[in-house]
Amino acid sequence: MSRQTAGSRPRREVEKSINQYGIFPVTVTRVEDLGASFRRVSLSGRSLLHAAQPISDGFGPLQDAYIKLLVPPPGASEPTLIELDENWRSRWLAQPVEIRGHMRTYTVSRSRLIPASSLDETHLHGLFPATAADLTPLERPLPSWQQPEIDLDFVLHQDADGVMGPGSAWAAGVQVGERVSILAPLRGSSLWASWNPGSAERLLLLADETALPALLSILRDLPPQAEARLLVELPHAADCQAVQQQARHFLEALPAVELICLPREGQVRGQALLTELHRILDLGQHPYRYEQAGEEELVWQLASAPQDSYVFIAGESSLVKTLRRVCVNEAGIPKDNISFMGYWKQGRMES
Ligand SMILES: Cc1cc2nc3c(=O)[nH]c(=O)nc-3n(C[C@H](O)[C@H](O)[C@H](O)COP(=O)(O)OP(=O)(O)OC[C@H]3O[C@@H](n4cnc5c(N)ncnc54)[C@H](O)[C@@H]3O)c2cc1C
Repeated sequence: MSRQTAGSRPRREVEKSINQYGIFPVTVTRVEDLGASFRRVSLSGRSLLHAAQPISDGFGPLQDAYIKLLVPPPGASEPTLIELDENWRSRWLAQPVEIRGHMRTYTVSRSRLIPASSLDETHLHGLFPATAADLTPLERPLPSWQQPEIDLDFVLHQDADGVMGPGSAWAAGVQVGERVSILAPLRGSSLWASWNPGSAERLLLLADETALPALLSILRDLPPQAEARLLVELPHAADCQAVQQQARHFLEALPAVELICLPREGQVRGQALLTELHRILDLGQHPYRYEQAGEEELVWQLASAPQDSYVFIAGESSLVKTLRRVCVNEAGIPKDNISFMGYWKQGRMES
């Protein structure tokens, strides 16, 4: 049963719309635990052939491209379908969550083509695989026996009482073979992404665990001459070890790129990241003054045509605000050189 009726229009694999995005029903092809805190869920379906490249063909930079996952309500046996007319959002939000489920945002960590006839033979190679096979260019048009597959890497977070958000809970319980829908840009339109370094030659990337997939997808496509520092705070030392191990392949080809993984291990969120940021920017001791993102505040702004240096900050909104303040007020980095994205807000569900 569909979670939302498609009205009188015939249901199609891809619901094209007046918008430049579509609903893509896909099948879960693989579920894999990554380190201590992450779970990778691979999704595949011929419908993805209609998505923006490289989601549709696995060839080209993803950078920090993201999609919306239509998290089905518990017990749903079919993927959510929404007719994407001009009122779809308000119509969808007006329904009870028990019927419509939830919409959550996730980075496309990898994309590739797989044999359409043998979904269960998808070969992945552990955490953040670095295989040349994944990057091989493919002939176009695509043969009928191939179909796209994408990976989403979920942080399995829970509160002090063990309660997970719907997105995290879905990833924790999902089984291979289940069907789900994603909302993503259509083929021929641009990916949804924030990475915009312009002509900057010196790059600084700051992230929490939710932006690790974005960071790693950006890392994979940096040019060999890139000069970059990537700082990411992760829940546990085991996450850091796994990430460093898997990123080694890419870092070997990038002599002026440094990836610094900082385990939180029970410290206040952001403390390790702020301390390290002060160290690498030579800012001396700092008083740990945290900014607080307001309830309704949108913490999201992209740099405008940065030159020379570029800073990319993504993660929890109050932390992102604080990191930006340090960069601007303490390090004197021009505001226009900074893209900052509050991916989520502590204590607040994604709407
Ligand atoms: C562009 C973009 C890309 C993103 N990419 C990814 C990605 O690749 N992987 C990923 O895991 N997340 C990613 N996120 C973040 C993700 O969308 C949010 O964490 C989202 O809130 C998770 O939904 P949920 O249903 O699990 O929790 P919600 O229902 O939204 O929140 C429930 C509670 O959990 C808290 N919470 C939410 N996320 C976390 C967390 N990570 N750690 C601790 N507490 C949390 C909330 O503050 C709230 O109190 C991305 C967000 C954006 C905007």
